[in-house]
Amino acid sequence: MGMRTIIRIKRAAKLLFLFVALLAFTACSPQQDGHFVLVGQTMGTSYHITVVKDGSTHADQKILQQAIDQQLILISQQMSTYIDDSELSLLNKALVGDWVSVSSNLFDVLLLSLELGWISGGAFDITVGPLVNLWGFGPEPRGPDNTVPAASDIQYLLSNTGFTHIELNLENSRVRKTSAVALDLSGIAKGYAVDKISDLLLYAGYERFMVEIGGEIRLRGNSPRRAPWRIAIEQPDSSSFGSARQAISIVDAALATSGDYRNYFEVAGKRYSHTIDPLTGYPVDHSLASVTVIAETSAYADALATAMSVMGSEKGLQMASEQGLAVYMIIKTEEGFVDKYSEAFGAYLEL
Ligand code: ADP
Ligand code: MG
Repeated sequence: MGMRTIIRIKRAAKLLFLFVALLAFTACSPQQDGHFVLVGQTMGTSYHITVVKDGSTHADQKILQQAIDQQLILISQQMSTYIDDSELSLLNKALVGDWVSVSSNLFDVLLLSLELGWISGGAFDITVGPLVNLWGFGPEPRGPDNTVPAASDIQYLLSNTGFTHIELNLENSRVRKTSAVALDLSGIAKGYAVDKISDLLLYAGYERFMVEIGGEIRLRGNSPRRAPWRIAIEQPDSSSFGSARQAISIVDAALATSGDYRNYFEVAGKRYSHTIDPLTGYPVDHSLASVTVIAETSAYADALATAMSVMGSEKGLQMASEQGLAVYMIIKTEEGFVDKYSEAFGAYLEL
């Protein structure tokens, strides 16, 4: 076999949504309330928004979608590492030590990212970007030959990693790097965008909706069935993609799932995940197949799910119980998958 490699990358946000939508609507009664669905593309993935019409006067659907698309374009222009002149890319190009003025959206996300860095003990770290790229999961494509990077390259980038090298000035919304770190918000920006769209819908007068971008979901009010939204945690193996493992029901909350079964590559039978452990510089490698987090906001759920994937089941569940977080994990064992969840998650399970 030697250097032979197997490539397998999955981008299945669409499938996930179809599945979510299926669950949400298969049980529809004739009593179902009127609703509409908006679909589009953003952040290298797709969005799906279900809005229930509630009687009162509402914005025109086309105008609503235009406003949503504008908001998403704005957020991408602020936070994407895939856009060369995005605010974040400019911040990455700024000199070490220079204070840079940023938009309030970007500042908010940076602040939340640092907070999550601290509470996760460094498991969530927005300076892993260069490592993500080195492993072929970033803006620079991996190329046809999947290879594991050289240990020396990993060590070198690791010495330029650490969210503590970012300073924020709360008084004037300025940011600076205190060493040559590069920022990557891919683990939180989709969630943040979901929250902003959810705010926009509320401003437009809607109070019952589901917003989903690339698998990050936020729910508000009752579904068209006049009951809580039903979402499924899917089976964590790519062969049975899209089949339900556990149904949960949610009214006002956000949900995020991180798993090693969606975006990864394999070399000589070993799987390399797109989630990088900031302490080692290597993709996380443990028995956790998927982590689902339910939280008040989508940004928080998104980042926390990534943090939990880095921490692993034991540390993650311990943190969840200490802080009252709603976390559901699917763990690989010799006897197959085993599910464990925190006390706070129990309230959402459909038994
Ligand atoms: P998932 O659904 O698995 O959480 P996301 O797209 O939300 O996937 O986040 C994964 C992305 O986050 C990676 O592609 C990478 O850019 C970034 N990332 C990887 N490891 C970390 C980490 N330890 N902390 C913060 N961001 C990370
Ligand atoms: Mg995430």
